[in-house]
Amino acid sequence: MMKGPEFAADPPDMQRLSALYTGWRAAAAGDSEQEALDAVRDWDAERRRVQTWMSLCTLRFRQDTTNADNKAALEHCDELSPAFRELEVDLQRALIASPSRAAIERAFGGQAFALWSANVAGFDPAIQDDLRAESKLVNEYVELLAGARIPFDGQELNLSEMQARRTVASRSARHAADKAYWGWFGDNAKALDDGFDALVGVRTRMARSVGEPDYVSLGYLNRSRIGYDRADVERFRGEVLKEVVPLAVELRKRQAAALDLPPDGLMAWDEAVHDPAGNPAPAGDHDWMMDRASAMFEALHPDLSAFFEMMRSRELLDLKARKGKAGGGFCTAFEEHGVPFVFANFNGTKGDVEVFTHECGHAFQGWSSRNVPLVDYFFPTYEGAEVHSMSLEFLTYPEMERFFSPAEEADRFRRLHLIESLLFLPYGCAVDDFQHRVYSASAASAASAAERRQMWLDVEATWLPWRQWGDLAHPAAGGRWQAQRHIYVYPFYYIDYVLAQTCALQFWAWSERDRAAALDAYVALCSRGGQQPFQELVRSAGLRSPFEQGCLAETVARARAALL
Ligand code: ZN
Repeated sequence: MMKGPEFAADPPDMQRLSALYTGWRAAAAGDSEQEALDAVRDWDAERRRVQTWMSLCTLRFRQDTTNADNKAALEHCDELSPAFRELEVDLQRALIASPSRAAIERAFGGQAFALWSANVAGFDPAIQDDLRAESKLVNEYVELLAGARIPFDGQELNLSEMQARRTVASRSARHAADKAYWGWFGDNAKALDDGFDALVGVRTRMARSVGEPDYVSLGYLNRSRIGYDRADVERFRGEVLKEVVPLAVELRKRQAAALDLPPDGLMAWDEAVHDPAGNPAPAGDHDWMMDRASAMFEALHPDLSAFFEMMRSRELLDLKARKGKAGGGFCTAFEEHGVPFVFANFNGTKGDVEVFTHECGHAFQGWSSRNVPLVDYFFPTYEGAEVHSMSLEFLTYPEMERFFSPAEEADRFRRLHLIESLLFLPYGCAVDDFQHRVYSASAASAASAAERRQMWLDVEATWLPWRQWGDLAHPAAGGRWQAQRHIYVYPFYYIDYVLAQTCALQFWAWSERDRAAALDAYVALCSRGGQQPFQELVRSAGLRSPFEQGCLAETVARARAALL
């Protein structure tokens, strides 16, 4: 059994691939159902190899952004990806038009055709250079942030280490950390503005090349939003505004009172701390946490336990922060080998537990779905995938005494996590609203950096009306969004979290009533992978779709009752 650090893959031979795809296209267009089905099977095996290579290129670069070989490999991957996409799109188009389509749907499911249709609609050979330019700009942003060295407390800290300083109990120390943190963004404002301006330009140009009115439409295609559209999302955001923002305002007032501040005295540097004693933190380091996690999963469910022991023994976890390692946390997969991989940056805060359970949710789902008939279903579309990750954050609540002690600390953690889950909903909508404004046809080609800052300030006033930046110059001028890596790296990936949280909160409520039933439903959902579109997956697990009238109100009402 290969272990995490040993996984490697050579770049594909594009000539060989091109010949294979020509054969599969012919099989798709021919009249033999058997040959068409065999072609799809062979294609799937080859795609798993190519996708594994792509995952490894991204992962190794993020594990050490200062390594020149890793960077060169990723650049080579970004160079080849658009040509590979063209091969994929041509074959997918042939499969959609195939005389054997009904047989393929019977064997592999109809969801693949919906995914392929979105992929075909979002691509044209003319955008290949723009795709390469986009990757380059994204990598520059990741590298810029990974290279941050902020002088603080006589040390040089990276953004992840700074993050921990921003949530300490001492208010003046938090303020100083926030000043240094946002000072770095202010110092790099020109690079951040120019990079984003170039991204908006290239993304808008691609939208026009594929015949879409703006990058909002192309963004929806790229995110494979199936079964709902821009109007549904807008309506859903409207419900968050009505149902959640007033509750969030109330929670912020209570937070101010808990911190001995006047009702309107909560400043931006106070928002992450809900108690004068500071936030609960895990009672041990990385190795200790891994042992606790093993015990936690064993207590929760045999499938979760088997999964986690596999992840540990095969070293498929890279959780420690290092100099040069990119920030954030994510789960990727080596589809050829049927295993997921988890990347994070532990910094000793409660966030470590949250990121860990979140990414393990993704990884457990990927592992549970490793034998799905098509690699398209290894992970569901993003809103669906975030249900698995965010729900595990809640389903592990009863085990939190393993990480936090004494027991009251675990209580504090659960309460805080629930509060922050609710407060997240307006923030997620703010990020989504901002991107809709940025990429709408009228703004995309014309807006200046200053106008984009104003857009963010408008969005903040709507969704986060309590926010006060005080003397933090860069965010006070509308620069907060530049620290939200999804806006640069994964455009339109954010409402997914809000939709998924609405489902995860339902798992929380279910687990409060019947823990075993909720866990069983969760495990069964994970094994279905992405074989259905989002709303069908959600319903198959016994949950309500966030787009259903009243779903959000009902879900939030339960959480409100538990908190207020
Ligand atoms: Zn996630």
